[in-house]
Amino acid sequence: MGVTIHAEEEVKDIVVSNKSITKLITDKREILADEFVMAAGSWSPIISKKLGIKMLLQPGKGYRINVAQETNITIPAVLLEAKVAVTPMNGFTRFSGTMEIDKINHKINPVRVNAIANSASEYYHGLQISNQDKEAAECGLRPVTPDGLPYIGKTSQYHNLTFATGHAMMGWSLGPATGKLVSEIISDQKPSLDLTPFHVQRRF
Ligand SMILES: Cc1cc2nc3c(=O)[nH]c(=O)nc-3n(C[C@H](O)[C@H](O)[C@H](O)COP(=O)(O)OP(=O)(O)OC[C@H]3O[C@@H](n4cnc5c(N)ncnc54)[C@H](O)[C@@H]3O)c2cc1C
Repeated sequence: MGVTIHAEEEVKDIVVSNKSITKLITDKREILADEFVMAAGSWSPIISKKLGIKMLLQPGKGYRINVAQETNITIPAVLLEAKVAVTPMNGFTRFSGTMEIDKINHKINPVRVNAIANSASEYYHGLQISNQDKEAAECGLRPVTPDGLPYIGKTSQYHNLTFATGHAMMGWSLGPATGKLVSEIISDQKPSLDLTPFHVQRRF
């Protein structure tokens, strides 16, 4: 499709001229473009600040434990009371959950890891989650907005900057819909949805 992904490359600065972004300066190169999309997840406020835009968004840390031994779990589930998601993967079972509002960091809180493991064991009789699996738990940062809705669309400050961030717990599910909206915005088509509820500078 002609897309180039520059992995392991950090946007360090943004050059602006006359209400337009002209280029990104990364740690490896300068990138010129006609249109830019802000999709930096929990890091979006840091980059927005460089552009003079105050964005209310915080990381909501979630954890996952991958269990390698056979669990006989074949059906994906959400353990509603425990707020734990269970996903049979290829060769292991994944248990994930918790929402820890904090600053940007990837510190693992063992209390939260144990809470996921313990509640999963209450639902699945005989499920054993080893200390080794718990010690290998990892976390991710969900970009959380005050009202739980993402930020999608342009602001008045820049002609060529579209926001697509803040999808909190639903980014994988909502990504394709947001992608469609972003393509409509950039190509000046009528968006499939009214974007008012997703405005970056909406009041809370
Ligand atoms: C445990 C867990 C379970 C989840 N389960 C689900 C689920 O079942 N279904 C679902 O829909 N969602 C789920 N989510 C939520 C989903 O992961 C997020 O909504 C989604 O990752 C948000 O996507 P994003 O692209 O906006 O942000 P991110 O995935 O955070 O991506 C932002 C990217 O921007 C990069 N970046 C930041 N700053 C810079 C910079 N200066 N230069 C270059 N790059 C930069 C970051 O490195 C990162 O790669 C889960 C999240 C967690 C933590």
